[in-house]
Amino acid sequence: MTPAAAYALAAPDGAFEKVTIERRDLGPQDVLIDIKYAGICHSDIHTARDEWGGTKYPVVPGHEIAGLVAAVGSAVSKYQVGDRVGVGCMVNSCGVCGPCLADEEQYCTKGATMTYNTPVDPSVQPDGYTMGGYSTQIVVTEDFVVGIPEGIGLDVAAPLLCAGVTLFSPLRHWNAGPGKKVAIIGMGGLGHVGVKIAAALGAEVTVLSHSLSKQEDGKMFGASHYYATSDKQTFRDLRGSFDLILNTVSADLPIDSYLRLLNLDGTLVILGLPEQPMSIKPFTIAGYRRSLAGSMIGGIAQTQEMLNFCAEHGIGAEIEVISADEIDGAYDRVVASDVRYRFVIDVSTI
Ligand code: NAP
Ligand code: ZN
Repeated sequence: MTPAAAYALAAPDGAFEKVTIERRDLGPQDVLIDIKYAGICHSDIHTARDEWGGTKYPVVPGHEIAGLVAAVGSAVSKYQVGDRVGVGCMVNSCGVCGPCLADEEQYCTKGATMTYNTPVDPSVQPDGYTMGGYSTQIVVTEDFVVGIPEGIGLDVAAPLLCAGVTLFSPLRHWNAGPGKKVAIIGMGGLGHVGVKIAAALGAEVTVLSHSLSKQEDGKMFGASHYYATSDKQTFRDLRGSFDLILNTVSADLPIDSYLRLLNLDGTLVILGLPEQPMSIKPFTIAGYRRSLAGSMIGGIAQTQEMLNFCAEHGIGAEIEVISADEIDGAYDRVVASDVRYRFVIDVSTI
């Protein structure tokens, strides 16, 4: 076992504290990564504060991991010591079910092993459940490690490991590109990366934000239009406008009103994951043959494709780098939508 320093939360209403965790010994297929940066995703907050239920404490969140390879197992073929690498939301899956064979490990029928808070055999993680990236080191099987291309800084790349692929995957699946009108609801960590990627794919991008306070940034990221959803007129003006709407909002929304903004055969994709059920009127989707869909992160191959795409197009996250003792305050600011646009922990401060 290798000890690693980490920041953990012992209870939903507690504060993060420095702890020592153990990482497993390197197996033949394993890669030991010195973590340099870890992004703070709103899912970390939902989990740390037990908003989805079932959180096991102490919890070490973090699934937007960027770092350097420190050692490799005897059978590792893809990576060498010193390589720039990332780890996202998953660290393993069954590898033999339909979705895994189709490179969609996030939909593994047995349930993918998520980077933190998933029960595992103690030989995988000595604590009996996975521990994430708010930590100095992590051991991950090479198939769940991706390469971070030269040209993207590790700090601005870290958030792409979750936020980037979570937007890239549905944009690709629903063919966002030239001639497609795409709206992104919520311009936070996920949303702002989505604006950049959708624009780089050639789509006409509209941001639907609760106010106009980030309008200039939205246009700079590539949006052609920017509307405040606090203004009821927005919903009248934009009725029937979009081919694809991606909802990244972490709180409950009156989703029926947003569905009405879809054009004929348009699709609204749920990405934000608040805990409460939502309600829609059957007439809203039956009329205009609209679809309501959902999407969960992206597979490992697609994560690599997304990183290569972002490097090619000069896309990184907009970040605010913090030290590890600032995580609690950063969580409060994310919940208050007071972040431009992703907090990233400088792991050297752990
Ligand atoms: P975030 O940085 O907090 O961004 C969420 C954005 O939603 C905010 O910036 C804000 O945008 C908007 N918002 C927040 N509270 C709102 C409210 N009460 N009413 C209206 N709008 C509000 O969070 P994130 O990290 O992007 O994550 C967003 C959600 O996606 C979370 O629920 C997270 O768990 C989920 N997620 C899902 C996946 C997946 O695979 N499906 C992956 C990662 C995260 P404006 O200020 O522009 O309105
Ligand atoms: Zn995430």
